[in-house]
Amino acid sequence: MHAAMPPSSALPSVCRPELPWPRRRWLQAAALAALCPGAALHAREDGPWPQALPVPGGVARLDLGPAPERPVVHADGVPVLVLGSASGWTAVVGIALSAPVGEAHVSVQAAAGAAARRLAYRVGRKQYREQRLTVAPRTVDLSPEDLARFEREHAHQQEVMATFSTPLPQDLRMRAPVPGPRSSSFGLRRVFNGQARNPHSGMDIAAPTGTPVAAPLPGRVIDVGDYFFNGGTVWLDHGGGLLSLYCHLSAVDCQVGEALERGQRLGRVGATGRVTGPHLHWGVMLNRAMVDPALFLPA
Ligand SMILES: [Zn+2]
Repeated sequence: MHAAMPPSSALPSVCRPELPWPRRRWLQAAALAALCPGAALHAREDGPWPQALPVPGGVARLDLGPAPERPVVHADGVPVLVLGSASGWTAVVGIALSAPVGEAHVSVQAAAGAAARRLAYRVGRKQYREQRLTVAPRTVDLSPEDLARFEREHAHQQEVMATFSTPLPQDLRMRAPVPGPRSSSFGLRRVFNGQARNPHSGMDIAAPTGTPVAAPLPGRVIDVGDYFFNGGTVWLDHGGGLLSLYCHLSAVDCQVGEALERGQRLGRVGATGRVTGPHLHWGVMLNRAMVDPALFLPA
């Protein structure tokens, strides 16, 4: 007896079951990325910023202008990271994969307690690929026990994801946590046996079990666990609502509360949780929206 898989409000990061890609497909993806003529359009300017790409799953950079105090910004009631100085402030807004295309807005207060104004911006269209798979029902349905476990873990993860701490990060440019072929599967829309599932909300990096996973920025460990879908998992808090997530680890080498330097090992690549082969699933979250980690890496 199996219960139905929970709907698409589920955990933000469930990898495709057919991973890892055969080596040939990784190489094809890498070659395509190198040839992408749009790459020049996405050139990054100097500064501490991620690449601005205001689409679902992307990041918007909103100029707030000069002000004596750091403005307080919210997106749908969630605090937003604001960096800069009195000569000019910038809001760095994560856009959820589920965000509609068109006008969006944040609320901006000149200071805590001040009246809020609306600041509009435009979310552009991005067509993510879709994958339709037909698989044995038991691989998409959960037993009642597994479903109960999943729901407990989901509630816990929601609390972890609500973290917003100071000090704020000074530099948002990241270093890849693991060397290796990166998939371009962020945002991939998946339909298993005709049921739409969460889109893929992270970057998968193929690497052998045991490969060290390094913190891409300084951060504090805010959660460590062994979860049904994600397996061995670490969440890092980089401050200001910027979090990062590491899944399917074979070993976890850090503890909750520990402060990690950039480059410090947090665990090792594995194939734990619901996967078929070793890889790192890496997620980056801004104001509770999972965004494309590639935007934070060198172009
Ligand atoms: Zn993944």
